[in-house]
Amino acid sequence: MIFPKYIPLMVPDIQESDIEALVDVLRSGKLVQGLKVEELEIGICKLTGSKHAIAVSNGTASLHLALVALGIGKGDEVIIPAFSYIATANAIELVGATPIFVDIDLATFNINKSVIEKAITTRTKAIMPVHEFGLVSEMNEILAIAKKHQLFIIEDAACALGATENEKHAGTFGDVGSFSFHPRKAITGGEGGVLVTDNEELAAKLRILRNHGIEIQNGKMEFVLPGFNYRMTDFQAALISNQLKRLPQILETKSKYAARYQNDLKSDKISVPRAPMNKKHTWQTFHVLLNASINRDAFVSLLNQNNIGSNYGAQCIPYQQFYKNKYRLNCGELFPNSLFAYNQGLALPIYEKLSLPEIEYIIEKINAEL
Ligand SMILES: *Cc1c(COP(=O)(O)O)cnc(C)c1O
Repeated sequence: MIFPKYIPLMVPDIQESDIEALVDVLRSGKLVQGLKVEELEIGICKLTGSKHAIAVSNGTASLHLALVALGIGKGDEVIIPAFSYIATANAIELVGATPIFVDIDLATFNINKSVIEKAITTRTKAIMPVHEFGLVSEMNEILAIAKKHQLFIIEDAACALGATENEKHAGTFGDVGSFSFHPRKAITGGEGGVLVTDNEELAAKLRILRNHGIEIQNGKMEFVLPGFNYRMTDFQAALISNQLKRLPQILETKSKYAARYQNDLKSDKISVPRAPMNKKHTWQTFHVLLNASINRDAFVSLLNQNNIGSNYGAQCIPYQQFYKNKYRLNCGELFPNSLFAYNQGLALPIYEKLSLPEIEYIIEKINAEL
C-alpha cells in the first residue's frame, strides 16, 4: 500500500487566525517594527523568562548581530559544533572571525563538552553551542568552561524555542540566545529571528545595530554605529505572535509523535533519539541514524517513492565546499561523529499538521523496508 498523498517533511501550521492577523497588519498601515513586533518581543520574554527580546529579520541575521554586538571580529575564534546548520558557521565568517569546530556527541547531536577546552586558544572569544534539533546542550558544563576562560556564550537556539533544561529555557543560559522562525521551525513568520538577553547594555546595542545604528538621544535621532537593516516586518511578527499562543500545543503534538517513533520504529538498523528526563525537547527535527550498511540517500529516494518526504538533518560544516577549501580539515579524523551524522542522519516528518494515519504509515513503511 502506498499512502494516497505525498507527506512532506514539513508543513507549517498556518491557520485562519494567522491569516486574519496578517490582514490586520495590512489594514493598520504600520508595516515594519510596529506594535506587532513589540507584542512579539513581550511574548518571547514571557515564554523564556528573559529580560529583553530583540526581533530581527531572520535567524542568521540574529547570530550575526550577536557577534557584532559582542565585538567579535577579525583575529578572534569562536568554538562551534562541527555538525549544525551551515548558518552557525557563516555568521562567524561574516564578522571576519574563525569558526573552530568541535565534534558532537551522537546521543544528543550536540557539541561534545569534553573536547571544548582542547579547542580554546588565546584568540578564543566565545563558545556558540547549538541546541541541535531542539535539545538543550550541556549548558552547566559549557557555562563553567566559559567562566573559567572568560568567554562569551552565544546560544544558537534556532531550533529550540520552548526547549528547557530543569525548567530553564534555551537561549537564557549564556550572554545571548538566538531563535529562528524559518518555516522549518515549529512556528514561523516565513522568515524571522529573535535574540534574548538579560544584559541591558547588550540589548540596547542590539536594538541600535538592527536599525541602521540609530539611537534616540534627548528625543533626537543620532547615528551612533554603522548598523544594519535587520528589522522584522509587522507581517512576520503578527504571524509569529499568533502562532506563539499555540506553541505549547504544537510542542505537545510533536512530543507525542516523537514518542510514537521511539516506541514503534523496530529495526536494529536505525537508532532513534531520546531526551533525558530533565530536558524538554522541541523535536524541531526527528533525526534518526541509519546503520553504516544502509545508503542513506538511496533510502531517502525509496521513502520519496513511497510518498514520504525525508532528508538529511544538518551539515558536517567543515566538510562543505567553502569550509573544506578554506580550512582543509580532515573531518574523518577530527569530527567522525559529525561526519557520520551528516552521512547517515535522516530527518523524518514531525509537525502539528501531520495526521495519525500519516505517522502510522511512515512507521510501517520504515519497519517494512529496513
Ligand atoms: C534554522 C537555523 C539557523 C538559521 O535560521 P534562519 O532563520 O533560516 O536564518 C541557524 N542555526 C540553526 C541551528 C538552524 O537550525
